[in-house]
Amino acid sequence: MKDSNDHRALTTRLHRSVTNVARAIALVLALLPPLAYLGASVTRIETELEVELEHVSAALGALATRNPTHWRLESDRIAVALGRAEQKDEEEGRILLDLQGAVIALSGREPGWPTVSATGEVRAFGEPVARLVIVKSLLELIEGAALIAMVSGLLALFGFLMFRHMPERMLDDAIRQVTHLATHDALTGLSNRAMLMDHLGLALAGAQREEGIGVALFCLDLDRFKEVNDTLGHAMGDVLLRQVGARLRAELRETDTVARFGGDEFAIVQPRPAHPQAVEQLAQRLINAIRQPFDLGPHQVMVGVTIGIALARGRSHPAAEAVLADADTALYSAKRDGRGTFRFFADEMNVALRGRRQMEADLRVALRRGEFELHYQPQVSLETTEVTGVEALLRWNHPKRGRVGPDEFIPLAEEIGLLPQIGAWVLRTACRDALRWVGVKVAVNASVHQIHAGGFETIVARALADTGLPARRLEIEITEGVLMSQTDATVRTLEQIRALGVTVAMDDFGTGYSSLGYLQRFRFDKLKIDRSFVASLDHDVRATAIVDAVLGISRALGVRANAEGVETQEQARMLAERGCEEAQGWLYGKPVPAYEIDALVAARGLAAAAE
Ligand code: C2E
Ligand code: MG
Ligand code: MG
Repeated sequence: MKDSNDHRALTTRLHRSVTNVARAIALVLALLPPLAYLGASVTRIETELEVELEHVSAALGALATRNPTHWRLESDRIAVALGRAEQKDEEEGRILLDLQGAVIALSGREPGWPTVSATGEVRAFGEPVARLVIVKSLLELIEGAALIAMVSGLLALFGFLMFRHMPERMLDDAIRQVTHLATHDALTGLSNRAMLMDHLGLALAGAQREEGIGVALFCLDLDRFKEVNDTLGHAMGDVLLRQVGARLRAELRETDTVARFGGDEFAIVQPRPAHPQAVEQLAQRLINAIRQPFDLGPHQVMVGVTIGIALARGRSHPAAEAVLADADTALYSAKRDGRGTFRFFADEMNVALRGRRQMEADLRVALRRGEFELHYQPQVSLETTEVTGVEALLRWNHPKRGRVGPDEFIPLAEEIGLLPQIGAWVLRTACRDALRWVGVKVAVNASVHQIHAGGFETIVARALADTGLPARRLEIEITEGVLMSQTDATVRTLEQIRALGVTVAMDDFGTGYSSLGYLQRFRFDKLKIDRSFVASLDHDVRATAIVDAVLGISRALGVRANAEGVETQEQARMLAERGCEEAQGWLYGKPVPAYEIDALVAARGLAAAAE
């Protein structure tokens, strides 16, 4: 970063100097021709004047010598001697003065400024008898000079642009080339060490703002490179290094940086791996990529790569050099343990990976071991406060970790493809439990993967058939996230579910991106206002406005509204006042095991006959 700032400053400085030089050249180009023309012309005119002066003085001198006493009275002759008066096309005046300065005769007319003049003496018998002044206009000359100035000004402007832009372009190219050379490895075209350290520093600073696994640095060392170099020669070694560089690059994302440190050492910065496995997966991909044979013209060679990895966790900001040292240490231990593998520095990563793996393994057997449980949260009518439905919320009773919430394990279950199975269990269990609460609807959450996995409508139909729950007592809740991709297929699945008689609710309404579009494409039975808006209802006018808007939409579309996360009477009052039909939240009851719902439903006096 610092480097690129330096480059920018240098470029600006150089551009400024080039502009100044170009300006000076342009100024000279603009001024020189008219000034030179003016100077040369004035000199020429002055010389002409001197010659004229000499001729006319001589003629007048001859007149005075011939008639020393009355020559001044010979006005005709004087006029002839002054001469040229009538043939002047240029403005010129000739004035004959006596020695006291009084005018004896004039020829032509005295021109206006600017002028040049020459003065000389008229002599008779070697004595001065009068003075002659010739005055000439410079106007024509100035006009000529102005014309030349205009042309040379245009030339100068053109010159300025040329003199500025050409060197600037050349400079930019040169700076770019120098920068590239200074930051890249000449052989492979990958970044060099300096650039990688720069990027590592930036990634570390960025990771400081986030939790998570931060930045991963990989140090790579080719196996058996020395053999290739020794047996096939350096030229082949270079070709191999170039191909290795290209293969590494191909495995990486745009945001990753790969560098050659020299010899057969490479390094990679992975700035924000999504999860611990992403680091491990990349290491494995790199090893696989380099393990494939390389074509070196007539030869085919096999090499391998050993990798050491250091992780800089979010929120900590170790120096880039320290992270590099860790990765190097890890590389060392990987080499010791056998080549063609990767090792992490320190145990931390292994612990994180192991923890997740363990959770994965536990999740795979959780269903079989009966560790899942459904809790139910009542949904009540805001008008009558009667329980109208319950929402099934999944809980995992982990043998060691205790109760794990859905937000923690559902994403993992999705990732490893377990959710359709778990979802089917949830559906069946919820339908079976719901049979006990006559007149109460049961709402079941469905996630992206369940809908997109295909056959979801069949799973729903089977759950209903197996348990005997009437379809109208089942509601499927989907979040906007589900709707965001695979539009047509999703809408078709939802329509099939609705055709069974099951109702469909849009969960967490207002937190996604595409709600309104979907409202047009699919007829939901219920909109559930996200609890983030409900929570701020009594103190944030904006939340109130959003709730009003959602209620407006639901009324306009004839869709029921449910407010989630109602915790206070005030919130309930405000919602009821605004015409919200239904609510759920701690005010009415936290999610509880099925048997507690039995008691609640009984207490609310929902008669079995209501069914
Ligand atoms: P959701 O469907 O929006 O469920 C409502 C969440 O809000 C539940 O969290 C519930 O415990 C919580 N909640 C209810 N009332 C209040 C309240 O008054 N205040 C507060 N602060 N929170 C309240 P939970 O049980 O942790 O579930 C989280 C999410 O996990 C659910 O959000 C749902 O999207 C998902 N989920 C739960 N069970 C399943 C399931 O069986 N399948 C699928 N695919 N997703 C599920
Ligand atoms: Mg829900
Ligand atoms: Mg919700």
